[in-house]
Amino acid sequence: MAASMTVGTGAPPAPGDLSGEGSQGLPDPSPEPKQLPELIRMKRDGGRLSEADIRGFVAAVVNGSAQGAQIGAMLMAIRLQGMDLEETSVLTQALAQSGKQLEWPEAWHQQLVDKHSTGGVGDKVSLVLAPALAACGCKVPMISGRGLGHTGGTLDKLESIPGFNVTQSPEQMQALLEQAGCCIVGQSEQLVPADGILYAARDVTATVDSLPLITASILSKKLVEGLSALVVDVKFGGAAVFPNQEQARELARTLVGVGASLGLRVAAALTAMDKPLGRCVGNALEVEEALLCMDGAGPPDLRDLVTTLGGALLWLSGHAGTQAQGAARVAAALDDGSALGRFERMLAAQGVDPGLARALCSGSPAERRQLLPRAQEQEELLAPADGTVELVRALPLALVLHELGAGRNRAGEPLRLGVGAELLVDVGQRLRRGTPWLRVHRDGPALSGPQRRALQEALVLSDRAPFAPPSPFAELVLPPQQ
Ligand code: URA
Repeated sequence: MAASMTVGTGAPPAPGDLSGEGSQGLPDPSPEPKQLPELIRMKRDGGRLSEADIRGFVAAVVNGSAQGAQIGAMLMAIRLQGMDLEETSVLTQALAQSGKQLEWPEAWHQQLVDKHSTGGVGDKVSLVLAPALAACGCKVPMISGRGLGHTGGTLDKLESIPGFNVTQSPEQMQALLEQAGCCIVGQSEQLVPADGILYAARDVTATVDSLPLITASILSKKLVEGLSALVVDVKFGGAAVFPNQEQARELARTLVGVGASLGLRVAAALTAMDKPLGRCVGNALEVEEALLCMDGAGPPDLRDLVTTLGGALLWLSGHAGTQAQGAARVAAALDDGSALGRFERMLAAQGVDPGLARALCSGSPAERRQLLPRAQEQEELLAPADGTVELVRALPLALVLHELGAGRNRAGEPLRLGVGAELLVDVGQRLRRGTPWLRVHRDGPALSGPQRRALQEALVLSDRAPFAPPSPFAELVLPPQQ
């Protein structure tokens, strides 16, 4: 597959070098720091921000001198005018340097890998992939996020496991990696605090779908992890931040290019996000499905994505000779129980009662359901006609579940962790009118008329003969020299 571009002409800094000396040195004619209104005006009018301008803005965000309105205005100016690769690279570094750089024992350096997603519906890949990679001999210090817009967040899913603690200091992360080989934590005041502030502001200012902001947000969190390799799952389609594949490819190339300019080896996989990944959407339901995948079972599209992304990462980091060999190793870790074993160790190390962690990992699906938060009611929807399932649209499904409490409208709002939906059918399957196709798990009153209508319209039927569902994986954008 075609390699992506590099940024600038100078030699890249060593991985994890956050000194700023390895950056491309943007021209900065003015030694006087500019005031925020001037910076906002410059970007609003399509100008380029210098390294000092960008660092000044990020410093003001972190030290609290930037007002909320100024942060929102700058985000909107960036969203509308964009940033070139050098500006994006500097923004990434400035966000990363807003907190601590993680430091690891020398012996781990080649083992450190991670994966990130631009956000999807039903995307529980990280829950499975982090322990599967640990079972393959990697160290995975994953800094993850909460739900953004209609998309779910890995941290919210994990918090549906009673006791799971996503707040971990850098020292605790090292202990977690020693015990389990992987950990999944949130950004914090110590870890990339500037991204925490901007991420929350983007969610409420319609500035999520910005190529430089997504790139800097993702790569800043990964830069502080001191990785040997990173794979980013860049979603495209009806429920992704970018609906079309060309825009997603541009984001993928930016991620790979900015990563290379900062000494981080990044590959980006373009994957379809029109239908939910797997059969379950909703925090606790997705944990159940992730456990099923680690039993070596579960929906094929989820397993396919876990093994494809994991295979790319093992190849990229030199743990496997080819991507296919890497994928086979990840598949073996799912089938032989070693990924599940790592997940159990990670749960216990991150605060879950060891007895509960054991019961969750060794229990049957029915037993697991008793141990996780459950919604009060279930409601099934029936197929309105005979037909073949062409698609189950993820976006309307996610929006209704969001309304039912699976997602939040304001930062910090508590979630209804048991709320969600189970798809009872697969794409390509023939359905008879009246067959249940969706089970909604809800806490509140029965679904409203508009909610039912939106859900029924999510089911797209055709007259086609039954067919095998396609893999969500479309293409891989690789770093230079891979
Ligand atoms: N994940 C992130 O961490 N940031 C984004 O902007 C999108 C996905």
